[in-house]
Amino acid sequence: MKILLINPKTPETFWSFSASLKFVSKKSSEIPLGLLTVAAMLPQNWSLRLIDENVSPLNDEDILWSDFVFSTAMSVHRHSLNKLIDRCKRLKRKIVAGGPLVTLEPENFAAIDHLILNEAEITLPLFLEDLLKGKAKKQYKTDTFPGIHETPVPRWDLLKMKDYATMNIQYSRGCPNDCEFCSVTMLNGRHCRTKTADQFLKELNFLYNLNWRGHVFIVDDNFIGNKHKLKQELLPALIQWSKARKYPFRFTTEASLDLADDELLMDMMIDAGFYSVFVGIETPNKLSLNECNKKQNLNRDISDSVKILQSKGFVVSAGFIVGFDNDNEEIFDDQIKLIQKSGIVTAMVGLLNAPVGTRLYQRLSQENRIVRQFTGDNVDGTTNLKPIMGLTLLKAGYEHILSSIYSPKEYYQRIRVFLNNYTVPNKVFQRVSFTELKALFKSFWFLGFKFKGRLYYWRLFFISLFKYPRKFPVAITLAIYGVHFQKITQNL
Ligand code: SF4
Repeated sequence: MKILLINPKTPETFWSFSASLKFVSKKSSEIPLGLLTVAAMLPQNWSLRLIDENVSPLNDEDILWSDFVFSTAMSVHRHSLNKLIDRCKRLKRKIVAGGPLVTLEPENFAAIDHLILNEAEITLPLFLEDLLKGKAKKQYKTDTFPGIHETPVPRWDLLKMKDYATMNIQYSRGCPNDCEFCSVTMLNGRHCRTKTADQFLKELNFLYNLNWRGHVFIVDDNFIGNKHKLKQELLPALIQWSKARKYPFRFTTEASLDLADDELLMDMMIDAGFYSVFVGIETPNKLSLNECNKKQNLNRDISDSVKILQSKGFVVSAGFIVGFDNDNEEIFDDQIKLIQKSGIVTAMVGLLNAPVGTRLYQRLSQENRIVRQFTGDNVDGTTNLKPIMGLTLLKAGYEHILSSIYSPKEYYQRIRVFLNNYTVPNKVFQRVSFTELKALFKSFWFLGFKFKGRLYYWRLFFISLFKYPRKFPVAITLAIYGVHFQKITQNL
């Protein structure tokens, strides 16, 4: 059997980093981890090819080579998945698809030949069994969340690794919290299911033996969903693994803000080689935090928690949301103040949206406040709901936030606040790679001469070089990220 695995094109989003990727000569910031995991679950005697439309073109000949096209999609891929379905129909090839988008809205993808919903560990084997018997059904789904301790090692070897800025890996699925707008708990449950430490290290070894070095993004819904297991099992093993290999990887992950309450956990993560963490802050408005059930962010000074993380050695990026029922026009300036004060350089601000299947979607459907389809791009300035404050005011306030925080003045000021708070971890990250050196030289030209905020760049350059020399690489990296954020905010 010949299988073509296709990762559909992702539109320009906050996460795409497209303008910044040019500095490091990479084509994409994200690998199709789900498809690579599915590839590892297919019979070993099948021929597999992978095309990631974000790094290479998809030709008709590729599709015609295959017996089946396998794909996966998140909400943001709606348009590209529909184009792919049309193309497969025209070329008379069957398409099999799974992932969050089709799991949440199977009725909108009736043209797909076989829908493999929920988690593939359960539904894919059922499909494969039927397929081999010649009686594959239209749809496979389950209400059960599988254990992931037997999930096979993803087929990273199918990638052209040099095209990517980072490799993704997964340790756990699910999150014990229950934020009203979040689809994670509905898709992956509230029980945090983990891989074993040995299994995770086996995956790391595979990446290491493929000669990958540098950034590794642990794509868990909430990496600290099971703190006990992390401290007892995974992190001690990961610390040893990283030390023995002189820290070949810089880990990034997503975690809830209560990470800042656990000194031991932070220390262990830094010891293991963590570099950066994305936290869901959402809002400084306590009424809105209550409204969306973001309990872990209540009863704390958010900016102090961020500073704790930064001073431990984490580069903190964060998500923010405006448009809660309890927001009024003061929220826009409050968000700007919080972002500036806490030195969160990479701040993803979006309008509140209600993904299908979330508790928020159910509540607003009952209130007749769902007005359009969710795009899945949380910084495109759209929302699928009717905000209490009115859409015009919300959009104007939103644009005000983005134009402020991504103006060169505010952006570079935030980098300075961050550098002040940040402690460079002792053991790691002292090596500067050739690619990073190249990026530095490119930044001279682009940010130092062509960029309208070049004076801010040079100021940062000299301040970080002389005042914070160990923080110089991270300062220039953040300056380069800014090119992408300034570009996407201009397009709004
Ligand atoms: S903490 Fe994050 S992953 Fe967990 S439910 Fe809230 S938004 Fe979702």
